[in-house]
Parts: sequence; structure tokens; C-alpha cells
Amino acid sequence: MTRVAVSGAAGRMGRLVAAGIAAADDLDLVAAYDPAHPGTDAGGVEVTADPAAVGAAEVVVEFTRPDVVMANLADWQRLGVHAVVGTSGFDADRIAAAVELFGSGPPNCLIAPNFSIGAVLMMHFAEQAAPHFTAAEIVEMHHDRKSDAPSGTALATARRMRPGGRRHVESEELAAGARGADVEGVTVHAVRLPGLLAHQLVVLGHEGETLTIRHDTTDRASFLPGVLLAVRNVGSLPGVTVGIEGLLGLA
Ligand code: NAD
Repeated sequence: MTRVAVSGAAGRMGRLVAAGIAAADDLDLVAAYDPAHPGTDAGGVEVTADPAAVGAAEVVVEFTRPDVVMANLADWQRLGVHAVVGTSGFDADRIAAAVELFGSGPPNCLIAPNFSIGAVLMMHFAEQAAPHFTAAEIVEMHHDRKSDAPSGTALATARRMRPGGRRHVESEELAAGARGADVEGVTVHAVRLPGLLAHQLVVLGHEGETLTIRHDTTDRASFLPGVLLAVRNVGSLPGVTVGIEGLLGLA
């Protein structure tokens, strides 16, 4: 049994992950940490505001906020606990700071911008297809409470679709924004509507044919298998790893 803690345990993702760990036969949920919600329940464990409780674990899963995650990672490294991180906001500078903190481990750290196996595959397939097409467009569709556009997944997909096949096709806009945003040669359109959760189409075209790769998230539960995969493997990945591609045999 691997002893696991959840940080941000009272949040939407934290509660889901805590319940998933509690339900897994090979994992033992030993601590649920969330300074804002002590005394509540996460996966059958009482949430604590004491970060030292995380020290009872071999692996901690972190789903918190971009403004607190780096200080937490410093604590987990000091406690000698491997970290699996889902919190957003890991740009190149932040990843460099994590590499500096964890070195070659142990403890180790796995940071994944997206734990959804379907989304990771969608990005991988788009990257594979891009060199074979003249141009590509992305349509990302999200719920109406999402505050920013385009999504991080759309930006990451566009950036990975290099070096081949990228060309933003010019066309006079009769209404401003009609042609979407040009992200490194890939046109990105963002749809925001109540009723949607998180969806993305990558449409690639050349003379006489198009290829559409589509991913739909219908529930946050989509993130759990990727998180559990990372929890089970982070101990054997020295230092800092970014993404779960390697664990899926895609890297
Ligand atoms: P949320 O707001 O529901 O939960 C965040 C929780 O963190 C809250 O309960 C809050 O009290 C807690 N928290 C605040 N400060 C803390 C601290 N110092 N230490 C520990 N906990 C603290 O948010 P959410 O929807 O659960 O998302 C959490 C993060 O995960 C966000 O950054 C989100 O973008 C990201 N996310 C990533 C993926 C992925 O696949 N990588 C998937 C979903 C969400």
C-alpha cells in the first residue's frame, strides 16, 4: 500500500482525488490538507489545516492555487514526500524553479498541465498529424464561467503542432474576430456557452481532405485515472517530470 496525502483536499479536484485514492486497493489515504476547510471530510479522512500531516505520506497530490503551490512544494520537498501536481500556472520559469527545488530527487515531482488521458492523446495525435497537412484550426469550447480564452490546452496544442503544416489562412474579417486568434500559425476559436464543460476539435486540412480530432470532457472524473497513474509511478521518475505522456508510452 502506498501512503498518499491530498493537498487542496476540500477543493473540487481535491475531494474527487481523495475519494479516488480512498477507493483504490493499493493506495492508502493518510492525510487531507486544506488550510481553508479544516474539520470537513475528504475521502473519509478529516481535513486538517496542519501541513505537517502530509509528512505521513509517501506521495502527496497537489490541486491548489497558482499563488500557493510553490510554497507547498517547498514544504513537501523538505518533508521528503514525492509530489504529483495538477495546479495550473506552470510556465517555463515555474518548471525551472521546481527543477531547482527537487534536483534529481528523491523526493520526485511530477507536474501535469492535463491529467485527462483523452486530452493528452488528442494533443499527441494533433502533433503527429500536423506535419502532413497545410493548415490547421482549433475550436475549443468551454462552459460560460471560464474567465479566460483561449484555453491552456488549446494554446499547448497549437504550440506542439510544429514544425510542419501550420499556416494561418488570411481572409478579410467582415466582423472583428471572425477568423479567431493566430497562435503560432494555428487559428484558434473559443466558444463559451452554458451547457458545455470542456471540448476541443483540431481540424487539419490540405487539398481534397480534412482530418478532425475531437476530445470531449463530460465530467471531472476524467482526470482521476491520470492522477492515479502518476501517484503509482512518481517514485520511480527521478527529479521533475512534466506531463503524463511518458507514463502512457507516448514520449
Ligand atoms: P478549487 O478552488 O475548487 O480548490 C482549490 C483548493 O485549494 C481549495 O479548497 C482551497 O481552500 C485550497 N487551498 C488554498 N490554499 C491552499 C494551501 N496553501 N494549501 C493547500 N490547499 C489550499 O479548485 P479546483 O477546481 O479543485 O482546481 C485546483 C487547481 O487544479 C486549479 O489550478 C485548476 O486549474 C487545476 N486543475 C488542473 C487539472 C489538470 O488536469 N492538471 C484538472 C483540473 C483542475
